[in-house]
Amino acid sequence: MNISIEDLKKLPGEAVKYTLTAAAEQLDLADGEVEFLEPFTVELLATYSNGKINLEGVVHSKVSLGCGRCLKTYVFPLTEKFCDEVQAGDMAVLDIGDWVREAYFIGLPLKPLCHEACKGLCHRCGTDMNEKQCECSIDEENHRLSVLKKLLEEK
Ligand SMILES: [Zn+2]
Ligand SMILES: [Zn+2]
Repeated sequence: MNISIEDLKKLPGEAVKYTLTAAAEQLDLADGEVEFLEPFTVELLATYSNGKINLEGVVHSKVSLGCGRCLKTYVFPLTEKFCDEVQAGDMAVLDIGDWVREAYFIGLPLKPLCHEACKGLCHRCGTDMNEKQCECSIDEENHRLSVLKKLLEEK
C-alpha cells in the first residue's frame, strides 16, 4: 500500500486523495483465525508540507467473527480512522500498511457479539436463547417453587 512521496512533494500544502486496496494476505493479517470477507480499503488524504506528511485515513473491511455468547459467526463491518504525521525525509514512497494494521487491531471488538442484546446459549442444554426459551429456565423456576412449598409444608 504505497503512496508516492515524490508526487506529493510536487503539490505542497495540498491534500491529495487516495483510495487504496489490499488483501489481508498482502498486509500480513491473514492468520487463519479471522475470515476476511473483503479486502481492506483505505481512503486517505495525504498532505505534504515543510518536510512532513500528514496522513488522515479511514480503513474499511468486512470480517467474519464468532459471537462470544451464542458462538454463531456474524459479519462485522470494520471502519476505523487514523491520523498521523511522518517525516518525509528523502523517501520516494511511503507504505501505509502499518497504519492499516494498527487501525484493524483497534477496530476489532475485544468481545465480539452478534448484537448487543445477544442472549447467548443456555449453560445447561446449549439452546440458543435468541431462538427459543429452553425448558431449563422453566424447570429451575418450578424447582425453586417446590423447594419453597416443601419448606412451608414442613412448618
Ligand atoms: Zn450472539
Ligand atoms: Zn437450557
